[in-house]
Amino acid sequence: MSHLIAGEPQATPRTNWAGNLTFSTDNLHLPKDVAEVREVVKRCDKIRALGARHSFNAIADSTENQISLKHLDQMTLDAQARTVTVGAGVTYGVLAPYLYQNGFAVHNLASLPHVSVAGACATGTHGSGLKNGNLSTAVSAMEIVLATGDLVTISREQHGEHFLGAVVGLGAVGIVTKVTLDVQPTFDVSQIVYENMPLGHLENHFDEIFDAGYSVSLFSDWQNHRATQVWIKRRMDQNGAEKPAPEFFGATPATHKLHPLAGHSAENCTEQMGIPGPWYERLPHFRMNFTPSSGAELQTEYFVPRDKAYQAILALEQLRDQITPHLFITELRTIDGDNLWISEAYKRPAMAIHFTWKPEWPAVKALLPLIEAKLAPFDARPHWAKLFTMSPERLQARYSEMADFKDLLNDHDPKGKFRNQFLRTNLYS
Ligand SMILES: Cc1cc2nc3c(=O)[nH]c(=O)nc-3n(C[C@H](O)[C@H](O)[C@H](O)COP(=O)(O)OP(=O)(O)OC[C@H]3O[C@@H](n4cnc5c(N)ncnc54)[C@H](O)[C@@H]3O)c2cc1C
Repeated sequence: MSHLIAGEPQATPRTNWAGNLTFSTDNLHLPKDVAEVREVVKRCDKIRALGARHSFNAIADSTENQISLKHLDQMTLDAQARTVTVGAGVTYGVLAPYLYQNGFAVHNLASLPHVSVAGACATGTHGSGLKNGNLSTAVSAMEIVLATGDLVTISREQHGEHFLGAVVGLGAVGIVTKVTLDVQPTFDVSQIVYENMPLGHLENHFDEIFDAGYSVSLFSDWQNHRATQVWIKRRMDQNGAEKPAPEFFGATPATHKLHPLAGHSAENCTEQMGIPGPWYERLPHFRMNFTPSSGAELQTEYFVPRDKAYQAILALEQLRDQITPHLFITELRTIDGDNLWISEAYKRPAMAIHFTWKPEWPAVKALLPLIEAKLAPFDARPHWAKLFTMSPERLQARYSEMADFKDLLNDHDPKGKFRNQFLRTNLYS
């Protein structure tokens, strides 16, 4: 029973995936089914949902209670409606092969498949692609346990604006027990990597570069005005079977498989060299049963309007000699605009400027305000799940629907059962 698990002494401190955050409570509830979720929620004054623990900041933290839905692992495909409904414990790594075996796919994936569908959608997690919205744009319905313990289902079809406000819900709308996602017929993808592209090409060829594949990522260490690597993921039913060009805007094809971080084994990465394979084995950069990224690391990410992306890159380049010593790698990706109220791409096709940092928080913490100041003219929005230092006032001003979002939270949860310190600071102070 979940209430017996809660409060048991933990042998080791409970941390997030990166280990940079120790959770502020040992009360972890592990309900076996929705009825138990409702019981736990009714019983607790304060509670936060915990997904796969991949957020870098305290968004999932609680000083009182956390609830993990990992036992809610059912998946139901509706081939006719082209939707899949998953329990909140399901990760993309589990969902993807199930969909593939049944002839379906989701439209995109993040750089890693290890995150839960519910946790990723709650923070606006994204992959890349000029025409690909973030992962939460595929959500068509959610089953939620409200602060009262009541169970409701809200859907795109029936709940209009209310639904658009709740999807990227930061865990504050309620405990999501099921998510329904749009799916499409499966597709295969081939991935090619180029090395050393002068960034100057982005000034006049931004769309051409990011449209070279279904999903395109540029990696950079901010030195020498170049992308160290360009990863192009092409659908086989689009241009994936075309022979890769011998040169791509000054970049040359890699001659062997690469990891985005110099010195790391490419073994952990998804297949490259143009070898076609299932969408879920190419769209993420990292393979399911291997450590994604570096492991010991920190991450930050800012979303700027796509039409100002190159100017934002130039502004940040001025900090290159401060950034590079603390950086593993930067990744540049594109995300289509959407209409989910506090999605980082709300009404704004975006380029996301991502930093994978060495685990050097004092230095990174000192750098973030400088980066945020350089990006201020572009109204940059920080990733909800990564590290940032932007003032709450400025953060809230980045979202035209923030007041409506807070009204929605008050309607659902007037006593703030689902609000933790992260939300009180960033949304309410
Ligand atoms: C190595 C690495 C690579 C990453 N790559 C990317 C990337 O490519 N793109 C990107 O955008 N992000 C990326 N991230 C960030 C990651 O996608 C987000 O932190 C995501 O939210 C993590 O999902 P999770 O399942 O771990 O949720 P958690 O981190 O556990 O929780 C995140 C939020 O979701 C809420 N939540 C979780 N479950 C529920 C539920 N059932 N009901 C209500 N709320 C819930 C939590 O309360 C919390 O607010 C990466 C992170 C790591 C560690």
